[in-house]
Amino acid sequence: MKVLVINCGSSSLKYQLFDMTDESVLAKGLVERIGIEGSRIKHTKTGQDTVIKNMPIPDHKVGIKATLDALLDKDHGALGSLDELHAVGHRVVHGGEKFSSSVVVNKEVLEAIEECVPLAPLHNPANLMGIKAMMELLPETPQVAVFDTAFHQTMPKHAYMYGVPYHYYEEYKTRRYGFHGTSHYYVAYRAAEILGKPVEDLKIVTCHLGNGSSITAVDGGKSVDTSLGFGTVPGVIMGTRCGEIDPTVVLYLMEKENLDTKLMSHILHKESGILGISGISSDMRDVEEAAEGGNERAKLALDMLCYGIRKHIGAYAAAMNGLDAIVFTAGIGENSSLVREKVLEELSFLGIKVDYEKNKSRGKEVIISTEDSKVVAMVVPTNEELVIAKDTLELTK
Ligand code: AMP
Repeated sequence: MKVLVINCGSSSLKYQLFDMTDESVLAKGLVERIGIEGSRIKHTKTGQDTVIKNMPIPDHKVGIKATLDALLDKDHGALGSLDELHAVGHRVVHGGEKFSSSVVVNKEVLEAIEECVPLAPLHNPANLMGIKAMMELLPETPQVAVFDTAFHQTMPKHAYMYGVPYHYYEEYKTRRYGFHGTSHYYVAYRAAEILGKPVEDLKIVTCHLGNGSSITAVDGGKSVDTSLGFGTVPGVIMGTRCGEIDPTVVLYLMEKENLDTKLMSHILHKESGILGISGISSDMRDVEEAAEGGNERAKLALDMLCYGIRKHIGAYAAAMNGLDAIVFTAGIGENSSLVREKVLEELSFLGIKVDYEKNKSRGKEVIISTEDSKVVAMVVPTNEELVIAKDTLELTK
């Protein structure tokens, strides 16, 4: 039973082909620079070297066609024919309040995803293009949409509402939605498996720390609060996004510098965070290196990130009235022993004790707290594609 997972961005497309009999990855790849000069497809069949094909890819439909051709290639492909493809699962960033779980795509679902475009103007149109292109090329194959926001739909109203007049929520649906839901779901449930306990009995804080970051309180397997919100800038500082900010700072800067909303949005999304503070890079590896070399602003960016993570863990322990486990995932969470150490050391009041030797590990499932630590700290590499593939199979069996 083969399931293809598609993650469509505005100018790129990632894919993975799974054999769901054993959940193994048969092939994966990346279509880059869609609609831009220099477009290409990088394709890897499991166990083989990556092959790169430079070709004009003017739109997503051509990108999807290139993906299917790569999967059918007699030397590097992993499909004998397209009939072997059981279903296709698509990552969709925003499902608004309509979707609290994954769904098989039909006309109504497409319309509902379209209605969420104002909530995610950069992402949902690209996701839709991918789904529509796939439906055109494979009209008989079921398509499933898996939403980044869905896992967070269990948040209680007091956690997702903002303190602006209520009618704005009614008119414009301004509320906290949260993102990276598929990742938070995967690592929380996987953590419970590793601990050998039912997820229903656990209070977990999941820290998805990548170029974009969010922290989630998962109580009994349900998201009850999360650090990203209506948009993708709040919470902790990110690669280029500002994290938590007093909204009056935004108003003040707009007035002082005569900025329109587009420019201000660019500053908050693209020029802030780790890049904006360090002045060096949005990439944590560069910033860690510079901080080690004594660069004060790089050190400040690192301190701000770790302090922000710690504050959220503390707040979410209070939100859940308890804490059993802290899980680190995504690029920084899986790889940066320095960030994990700096976060956990200052949480000793919770009875957390770091196992420094185990914390040196990178990109692997590992418990990084000592056996007598009151809260378990662990690293669980995320696997959003597998969740999408599993949901896709489940809904189309
Ligand atoms: P992601 O968005 O999940 O791909 O994560 C990207 C982030 O992970 C970037 O800020 C990278 O610098 C960071 N990252 C990847 N590897 C490491 C590492 N070995 N140490 C520190 N940060 C890392």
